[in-house]
Amino acid sequence: MLSRGTAILTDALAAGRAVGAFATYNLEQVQAIAAAGETTGLPVMLLAGSSHFNHAGRRLLATLALTAAQESTTEVGVHLDHCRDLDELRWCVEAGYSSVMYDGSHDPYEDNVARTAEAVRIAHDHGVWVEGELGALAGDEDVTTGAGSGAPDTMTDPVQAADFVARTGVDALAVAVGNVHGFAPDAHLDLERLADLRAAVTVPLVLHGASGLPEKEIREAIGLGVAKVNVNAELRRAYLHAMTEELPTVLPADDAVRLWRAGREAVRRSAHDTIGQLVRP
Ligand SMILES: [Zn+2]
Repeated sequence: MLSRGTAILTDALAAGRAVGAFATYNLEQVQAIAAAGETTGLPVMLLAGSSHFNHAGRRLLATLALTAAQESTTEVGVHLDHCRDLDELRWCVEAGYSSVMYDGSHDPYEDNVARTAEAVRIAHDHGVWVEGELGALAGDEDVTTGAGSGAPDTMTDPVQAADFVARTGVDALAVAVGNVHGFAPDAHLDLERLADLRAAVTVPLVLHGASGLPEKEIREAIGLGVAKVNVNAELRRAYLHAMTEELPTVLPADDAVRLWRAGREAVRRSAHDTIGQLVRP
């Protein structure tokens, strides 16, 4: 069923878990992630956002994700990831998304506050919750760039975070605490800063760029109030490796369906394993 409201986050927090939020670009990924929710029996979130629309088209991908959520036997959130366009945000809210992220983290602070507050007004009118972001993440959402761990000046400041949450009314806050988009083998979380952030704000925290982070650090982050963990690169890697392995077998018969199925099953397994790891120590 399609998720409604922030209970998906607060229930996870209360259970000592974080919700797995997975980026989707195509049919097989949407199916695989929804299936991982069913095989784990836990809620999941489909990230169908701006950079994913660049591949699949907004209406098509949104329709796919919403339909998969409605048909699932477990709770599935459909979330607009990293949106910087309030018209797009409004479109997704009206299309029936369960949550949206407005990402003003690359803008000057006062602009981030003003535009995120506007996003909150639009979304709350429709009962949709909002994630904001403060502090900028290195790396790229769609490809692994090898960017290093976040420099200290891009990390989220706890005092500013309290001000940001109070003035915008966001329901969840994405933080930069050393996490990076894409695989970054040398990335480590600043757990002390995360603890300070937890003390400074009451809303659930969100961790982007979890691919490749040490499992122990992710679990400790969940113990410190992270209720949603975004994963993308890990699923892309699982998808590509499975398809590479399957390709020689399917080529003689032009069996594309078998190739797509292999990719889908690899994504499901990867998402399933990730969901299982998202528990506090
Ligand atoms: Zn992200």
